[in-house]
Amino acid sequence: MFPSDPDVLVIGAGCAGIAAARELTARGRSCIVLEGGTRVGGRAWTESMSLDAPFDHGASWLHQADDNPLTPLARALGCEMLDHDTVRERRLFAHGRFATGEERRAFAAAEDDFWQAIDAAARDGGPDRPASAAAPPDGPWDATVVHWEGAQICAAELSRMSLHDFAATALDGPNLVLRGGVGGLVARLADSLPVRLAARVDRIAWGAKGVAAEGAFGSVRAHAAIVTVSTGVLATDGIAFDPPLPLATQEAIHALPLGLLTKIAFRADGPDVPDLPPFVSLRRAVEHDGDRPMSWVARLFGDPVFIAFCGGARAWESCGDATRAEAEAREEAAKVFGPRAAAALGRAIVTRWGEDPLFRGAYSHAVPGRQQARRVLGTPLADGRLSFAGEACHPRFAATVAGAWLSGIEAARAVP
Ligand SMILES: Cc1cc2nc3c(=O)[nH]c(=O)nc-3n(C[C@H](O)[C@H](O)[C@H](O)COP(=O)(O)OP(=O)(O)OC[C@H]3O[C@@H](n4cnc5c(N)ncnc54)[C@H](O)[C@@H]3O)c2cc1C
Repeated sequence: MFPSDPDVLVIGAGCAGIAAARELTARGRSCIVLEGGTRVGGRAWTESMSLDAPFDHGASWLHQADDNPLTPLARALGCEMLDHDTVRERRLFAHGRFATGEERRAFAAAEDDFWQAIDAAARDGGPDRPASAAAPPDGPWDATVVHWEGAQICAAELSRMSLHDFAATALDGPNLVLRGGVGGLVARLADSLPVRLAARVDRIAWGAKGVAAEGAFGSVRAHAAIVTVSTGVLATDGIAFDPPLPLATQEAIHALPLGLLTKIAFRADGPDVPDLPPFVSLRRAVEHDGDRPMSWVARLFGDPVFIAFCGGARAWESCGDATRAEAEAREEAAKVFGPRAAAALGRAIVTRWGEDPLFRGAYSHAVPGRQQARRVLGTPLADGRLSFAGEACHPRFAATVAGAWLSGIEAARAVP
């Protein structure tokens, strides 16, 4: 199954690695994908055992679907999918109750004002700065919008993020959800690729005569390597490089840290479960300084599954402590659904992206002043013998499966 003398080593079988391997294969180049885990898909992972329904631990939407390279691939495979925005009711919880229509319109207007302010600031010709510096500060919904757009969507507070990168990577609809999950799609796209599982790479030598990847599995040589592991893995020296990476590459890795988004998903059967329609999304307003609400998505495709999303610093605080994360999600549920409905939430599963040494977080943002780090990291080294790919390398669709996919293709095309 594996070529004995491959042209290219691809490190990691997430979206970027799968896309790179498909592109290399289509171009007649032989490759081996070395994957440290025991499954393909990386941060796109659908698992159906825990809750007796498909649950995406990682990516769950194909954002900006009309420009998303995975949309046509999903169609070609006949995946059942639909535009979440056309079927979901969006609820807002504020002042201890569900918001009125007037309050929802005021919140939507605050979101529009936020994006106008961000776009204007990003285009004003001034230096980069934290995205939070451009956000309207004083309106009654502004803190909720900032929490939502930062911690809950980008997995990091806006104060930690480059304004220019935040504006450049903002996403639009349609947002597709897939019956079989985004991870289910990505796994199918890896079918028949030469992926070697449980082959964690500890060291990459990239001398003048090609590359070699080494780990407990042994050593594999090739002409070139495409490394697709997360910047969280790279920043914690998950792979040693010999010779060491150039300073500019090292600095780019550290300028693109991963934020954290933890999902706490509950199976909820029975008469007392929260009475919500299929596909519903729910946000709770920030009530006071320091309040960091979770948000919810429930009953996708009618399944009795309620998913709490906890992002940014709050997610890091419970990283490695699933019991605490679950307890906090149950408290959130009691606030918005009432204690009786919250008590009806059954068994739970807590995602573990932060503590997993194969990921070390959810997805990347650029720190203030370092928007260009994505291009620096994506620039091939040693005449193309060593290159990096993955969501962090894509200047437009960073933090998404689309960005990871496109950057994998680009890296494969750049191999000499
Ligand atoms: C909770 C969460 C929600 C998300 N929601 C969305 C969403 O709705 N829509 C969206 O588009 N995106 C979403 N994302 C982001 C999306 O999942 C990622 O951007 C994308 O999957 C990253 O793909 P990648 O190939 O760059 O990296 P990865 O998926 O991280 O792939 C890298 C691979 O390398 C492997 N690896 C690591 N270290 C080693 C080693 N030393 N040796 C060998 N292999 C190694 C890993 O196991 C992994 O399989 C979400 C992510 C998370 C975590």
